Amino acid sequence: MDNQSYDVCIIGTGISGLSTAAFLLDQQPDIRILMLEKADQSGGAISSYHQDGYLAEWGPHGFLDNCEASKELIRFASLEDELETAPLSEFVRYVCLDGQLQCIPQSALRILKQPLISLPAKLRILGDLWKTPMAGSPSVAQWVEYRFGKALLPFADAVFTGTYAGDINKLKIDAVMPGVRDLEKQHGSVIRGVIKGMFAKRKSDNKRKGLPAMTSFKKGMGRLPQRLAEEIGNKATIQYSSEATSLTKTDDHWQVTTDAATYSCTDLVVALPVNAGLPLLRRSQPLQPPLSSLPEARIASVLLGFTEEAQVPFGFGYLAPEKEDRFSMGALFSSHMFPGRAPQGHQVVEVLVGGRRHEKRLQLSDNELINQVYQDIRQIMDLPTGPCFSKVLRSSHGIPQLESGYTDLLTWREKVMQAEPHLHICGFGWKGIGINDMTKEGQKMAQRIMTRQAQRDTAEVKGIYF
Ligand SMILES: Cc1cc2nc3c(=O)[nH]c(=O)nc-3n(C[C@H](O)[C@H](O)[C@H](O)COP(=O)(O)OP(=O)(O)OC[C@H]3O[C@@H](n4cnc5c(N)ncnc54)[C@H](O)[C@@H]3O)c2cc1C
Repeated sequence: MDNQSYDVCIIGTGISGLSTAAFLLDQQPDIRILMLEKADQSGGAISSYHQDGYLAEWGPHGFLDNCEASKELIRFASLEDELETAPLSEFVRYVCLDGQLQCIPQSALRILKQPLISLPAKLRILGDLWKTPMAGSPSVAQWVEYRFGKALLPFADAVFTGTYAGDINKLKIDAVMPGVRDLEKQHGSVIRGVIKGMFAKRKSDNKRKGLPAMTSFKKGMGRLPQRLAEEIGNKATIQYSSEATSLTKTDDHWQVTTDAATYSCTDLVVALPVNAGLPLLRRSQPLQPPLSSLPEARIASVLLGFTEEAQVPFGFGYLAPEKEDRFSMGALFSSHMFPGRAPQGHQVVEVLVGGRRHEKRLQLSDNELINQVYQDIRQIMDLPTGPCFSKVLRSSHGIPQLESGYTDLLTWREKVMQAEPHLHICGFGWKGIGINDMTKEGQKMAQRIMTRQAQRDTAEVKGIYF
């Protein structure tokens, strides 16, 4: 077995590992980096599908353009000219309520003006101003009902179906919205905290105004890891089909073992989804994690192509709260968001199925899924003929669910990283689940390696966009 030595070894070439490598190389071009990847290509959960003029995604469909770390990565990958944006201010979203698609404005005030909920329910939202902070570790559903009343539950359900494919009765509010929970604790009310935050923002000139835009690339999301891996591959070693099977700490180095070799490094970055990283970390640490794994939600995306006859409403797509009892969780109207995703004279809809609540539906055959999804969506939009193209994309990557015990797991990660200044842990499910969360964490890990200082963590208040 070879024994080769590097400054930094990064396990995983999903967006987390690639971000860490890119930020390191940007600052320190001569740093010696080895990246180990189990698969035969980079990207992990990010991968695009191209067939017969259709373009769709196995995993993420895009990310918001309000994250500096992601913007820096796009520059590093020289992808500025390939960007496609769909501004939230122009593209409406829908929630399915009582079997009808209801257009949801992108501002809290405009939502309140809509007749979506009754006047008493609107007044109940203001109850937040008088409610004491909720004690304990409530689920999203318990917390939303306590602070704002029952009427907001379907909307919260839609938000967390859209982001986590999750169950709001199981997701913990402290885990999924730590920043909002901080507002509740600091100001005694979320509304008061948001208003104070808005005033503070107005005072600082450099804060962006208006709504962000959903962003992707002309050839799909897969271009991002592809280009990053090309750039990084010119300056560092990327080893594919190399699964890290054990991590060992020696006196002043870390050792990573694969089937073929053992590599030695000063700094080790475990850039893996929580459930892929935990078994490796557990075996290398005296301090054991409080959980052996996180639950995951799996989804399938059913791609349906239609001619222009189909009346797909204009906008991003829709989400269906659980109480609607529909087969599909929602759909993206992809060719509205990003034109050019379907052949001339056609349009494409990507319908999402499964999730934390309905994983069993994923056991259906492709034909059954296509049929059920089509029957479902034709009840809520005018589709005079059946799809002229269909394909089921089943992602093999589960979405980590931040449920009971998750915040203890984060505390464990902090303790491990404090005890081991040369060990860096990031990836899908650590500190969020979105691409922007991963790029920010990658940047933090690179800073930590270069400055040998822990980056101070503040719980960010993220916008809620339907
Ligand atoms: C279906 C789906 C839809 C999503 N939609 C969105 C969206 O619309 N917007 C958004 O912002 N985010 C979305 N996400 C989340 C986004 O995809 C993730 O945040 C991101 O891709 C995670 O990147 P990662 O590098 O941490 O993990 P991964 O992408 O999982 O990459 C980890 C890599 O490590 C490799 N690996 C695993 N174990 C080992 C080992 N032992 N040794 C070596 N290599 C190993 C894997 O092969 C993989 O390449 C979605 C995720 C899924 C699954």
